Amino acid sequence: MNRKMNGDCEMSKVTDEIHGQIIGITDEERVKIDAFERRMYSHDLASLPKMMELGFKMMPDLVVIPKDAEEIAEIIKIARKEGIPVVPRGGASWGLGGAMPVDGGIVIDLTKMNKILNIDKNNFNVTVESGVTWKKLYDSLIKMGYMIGSYPSSAYAATIGGWISTGGVGVGTYKYGSAIDHMESLEVVLPTGRILEIGESETSTTGGQDLSRLFFGAEGTLGIVTKARLKIHPAPEEIRPLSYGFDNLKVLSSVVKKMTLSDVMPLHISFLDRFHFEFLRDLGIEIPGSEINDMLNIALEGDSAVLDLEEEALDKIAMTNNGKKQENDIALHEWNERFFELRTKRAGPTATLGEVFIPISNMAEMVEDIYKLIKKMKLRAAVTGMISDRNTAVFMPYYLSDERKLIRNLVSLSFIKKLGDLAFTHGGRPAGQGLFFPGNLKKTYGPGRDTMMDIKSVMDPFDLMNPGKTTEGLTRFGIPIPTFAMNSGMNMMAWIKHILTKDKKVST
Ligand SMILES: Cc1cc2nc3c(=O)[nH]c(=O)nc-3n(C[C@H](O)[C@H](O)[C@H](O)COP(=O)(O)OP(=O)(O)OC[C@H]3O[C@@H](n4cnc5c(N)ncnc54)[C@H](O)[C@@H]3O)c2cc1C
Repeated sequence: MNRKMNGDCEMSKVTDEIHGQIIGITDEERVKIDAFERRMYSHDLASLPKMMELGFKMMPDLVVIPKDAEEIAEIIKIARKEGIPVVPRGGASWGLGGAMPVDGGIVIDLTKMNKILNIDKNNFNVTVESGVTWKKLYDSLIKMGYMIGSYPSSAYAATIGGWISTGGVGVGTYKYGSAIDHMESLEVVLPTGRILEIGESETSTTGGQDLSRLFFGAEGTLGIVTKARLKIHPAPEEIRPLSYGFDNLKVLSSVVKKMTLSDVMPLHISFLDRFHFEFLRDLGIEIPGSEINDMLNIALEGDSAVLDLEEEALDKIAMTNNGKKQENDIALHEWNERFFELRTKRAGPTATLGEVFIPISNMAEMVEDIYKLIKKMKLRAAVTGMISDRNTAVFMPYYLSDERKLIRNLVSLSFIKKLGDLAFTHGGRPAGQGLFFPGNLKKTYGPGRDTMMDIKSVMDPFDLMNPGKTTEGLTRFGIPIPTFAMNSGMNMMAWIKHILTKDKKVST
C-alpha cells in the first residue's frame, strides 16, 4: 500500500509496511519520515531551486540514521526487494548533488557512525567508522603524537566515507597523497546487502588486486563504505607555515611551477586571490596584514633544522620572482584558516564552490581564463586552490550568490559547468560527476567509462545504489539526461547570467 507523507504531495516509495520493517531493524528515533526533517536531506552544499523538483524527486521518502553495517545491510536487502533507491550521505559538504535523491527512496545518514575504533601504534594505522569527520580523526591522532597525512579543507563536516567516495585531494596531499594512499582496508555494504571487508588484511602494502580501490571516487554508486583502516604517520617535530604575497595569480603560478621543480617537498601548498580577502574585509573580518594581495601559503613539516634549509630555498624562489614574504603571524593565521575558506559565504549569503584539476604547466593560462569567465558571467567570485602533487593544480573558485533570487541563483550554477569546460581546454578535468556532470565521464576517461558502466551494472543490476549519478544522470522518470541537452541548457543559463545585470559587486 502506497501512502502520502505529511507535508508533501508525492506518492512515497516507502509503504507503511516497509516503514514498520525498517523501524524493526533500527529504532523509531533513528528513522525520519517527517516532511520537515526529510527536506533537510533534499540537497547537499549546493542549494537547488525548488523548480528542480520538476525533474528530480530530491526529497527522500525516508531517512535512516543507522548505527552499524548490519543495520545498513538489512535495510538494503529490503530496498532491493522492493525496488527502492538508497542514497548514502555523509556530511553533505560536496556540492554536486551526490548525497541527495533524484527519485526519492531511502537516504542513509552515516554521521552517527562516528567512532574511532582502534589506533594501532605498532602498525601505524587507525580503524574508523565511515561517519567520523576528518577533523575529529585529525585531532584525536595529534593528541597521541600521530597524524593522518591528508584531509579535505572541509574537515569539520566531511566524513571519512564522503572523502573516499568523492576521490578528493586536500591538505597534505602534496606530500602524502590522498585518501586512496592511506586506505589499507574498507568495510563496505554492497548493493546486495552483503557486508564485505576488502583491501589488505595485515600489512599496509597490497601486492594483488585490491578491490577497495573500486570504491574510491565511486560517489556512493557501488555500495556504502562503513569502516576504513587508514595509515597514520608520526606527528612531525614542527609544522612551519609560510606565506608570500604576489601581485597577481599569474606570477604566483610561475613561482609554484619553480617550487614543484625544487627538492623541497612541503606538506601543503595553497593559494587565495585578492577577491577572497576583499570579501573578508567587506564582512568586517579582521585579517592580519593590511595589503594582502594574492597569497601563496605553504606548510613545511618535519625536523626544525631541515625546515630552516627548506624555508631558505623557498624564500629564494619566491623573492627572486617579486614575492613578498609575510610575517610569521600572517602565515600562522593563514594556516589556521585552512578549514574556513568559505567564511566569506555570509557575504552571499550563499556560496557555490567549483573544483577542477589542471596540469601545473597550464596554471597561468587557466587563471587568466577563469577571470575572463567570472567577468563575462558578472559574478562575485574568488579564485582559490591548492597544489596536489608536482604535476597538478586544483582550482577551487567560488562565487557568492543569494538563493532567494531564484533566476539569478539558478543560472549562476552554469559557472561550474563552464569551469569544467575550461579545465578540459587546459588539459585537465572537473573533480567528480555527481548529479550534474555524468556527461563528463566519457571526456575524462574515454572508453574507460563503458567499463565503469559495466562494473556498475554487475554490482548493482537494479540500479538502486545512488541511482542517477556519476555514470548516468537520470531524472525522476528514469529518463537519462542527454549530455547535449545538459550542455546546451547550461550554456543557455550562462548566457542568461551574462545578460542579467551585474551581481552586487563583481570581481574583475
Ligand atoms: C569549504 C569547503 C572546502 C572543501 N575542501 C575540499 C578539499 O579540500 N578537498 C576535497 O576533495 N573536497 C573538498 N570539498 C568538497 C567536500 O567537502 C568533500 O568532497 C567531502 O569529502 C565530502 O564529504 P561528505 O562527508 O560531506 O560527503 P557527502 O557530501 O555527504 O557525499 C558525497 C558523495 O559521497 C557519497 N557518500 C558519502 N558517504 C558515503 C559512504 N560512507 N559510502 C559511500 N558513499 C558515500 C554520497 O552519496 C555522495 O555521492 C570542500 C567543500 C567545502 C564546502
